Amino acid sequence: MPDRFIPFSLPLIGDEEIAEVVDTLKSGWLTTGPKTKQFEADFAEYVGCRHAIAVNSCTSALHLALDAVGVGRDDMVITTPMTFAATAEVVRYFGARPIFVDIDEGTMNISPALLEETLAGMKDEDRKRVKAIVPVHMAGQPCDMDPIMDTARRYGVKVVEDAAHTLPARYKGRTVGTIADITAFSFYATKCITTGEGGMVATDDDGYAEKMRIMSLHGISKDAWKRYTKEGSWYYEVIRPGYKYNMPDIAGAIGLQQLKKADAFHGMRTRHAGMYNEALGGHPAVELPVVSQDVVHSWHLYIMKLRLDRLNIDRAAFIEELREMGVFASVHFIPLHIHPYYRETYGYKPQDYPVAAAVYERIVSLPFYPRMSDDDLQYVTDCVRGILDRNLKG
Ligand SMILES: *Cc1c(COP(=O)(O)O)cnc(C)c1O
Repeated sequence: MPDRFIPFSLPLIGDEEIAEVVDTLKSGWLTTGPKTKQFEADFAEYVGCRHAIAVNSCTSALHLALDAVGVGRDDMVITTPMTFAATAEVVRYFGARPIFVDIDEGTMNISPALLEETLAGMKDEDRKRVKAIVPVHMAGQPCDMDPIMDTARRYGVKVVEDAAHTLPARYKGRTVGTIADITAFSFYATKCITTGEGGMVATDDDGYAEKMRIMSLHGISKDAWKRYTKEGSWYYEVIRPGYKYNMPDIAGAIGLQQLKKADAFHGMRTRHAGMYNEALGGHPAVELPVVSQDVVHSWHLYIMKLRLDRLNIDRAAFIEELREMGVFASVHFIPLHIHPYYRETYGYKPQDYPVAAAVYERIVSLPFYPRMSDDDLQYVTDCVRGILDRNLKG
């Protein structure tokens, strides 16, 4: 048994979050209410967007966003294969079809050039069915949004950002959450800030915001929590068939306090990434994460790439050796088109998206979270270098 245990991720929860949750529990108001409303207002101010609507996951946020921009049955939504299941599964909720566009190998973000090529190459009747593009800011690094927005505008397609990995992030000085039509954030336990489970949709568009707020709570025309307060009344109207996606105040309370720490967490993540880069840079079997010009990277994940051509082991063996030393690494992501559901439903082969399929074989996400000590970081990089040195070819 190794004497060290470094998990892949751990949340950083302080006395402030605990006190805020206790306050909620004592208040008698547990579901969506004042804490969630405050979290929404603070989040909108932090990101600089007009509207922020708190929901119970980023998956819900993506679903509401695609609903708001008008995705329907037999439509198409373009996204990247290098993402989590949620990004494409919400497209299936509508009976619409996810179309994948391959990535740039360095950043692992959707390729703007291939996006343009894909839309340009479509038959007219297919292109008319494309209702949205969902770029994913992989690991917390913003996609190249200018050409993506330009392509989308030219073809009359809306852009919904999957910003599950970002907070805060900036692209050419603009904050992620203010660039596309709608942006979806995640507060899942491993993400940049957490509410346990939770998400947020951000937009500057009043119409989208109104629609998403109504759809997030059973299509009811007013917020339920207002109905039961003294200003409210018993009357409500169901004006659309909605969902049950609201964020409860227990989660909102955690989010309120986590958001206050978002800059501090980001500082720690950025510093940790620098320490990994420093310790692993120059190793013949390692490629460091590629950072684009003119972005602020959220550093949700630290993803290194192995030079398999220089090693006698594969990625699975490397991760297993790390585990034996008490270091728990992971892989982000197994490209969606390689999973059985997508292979069987659409007949995809790995080679259909060759860049994603190839880079998948050599990516490793190292343990990475603000709570890691310098000693933890040192131990991880010592283990990584040790394994790679033992297994270098020639
Ligand atoms: C985590 C994640 C999601 C889903 O977030 P939830 O809040 O768990 O629904 C969506 N997209 C990506 C890229 C993710 O990593």
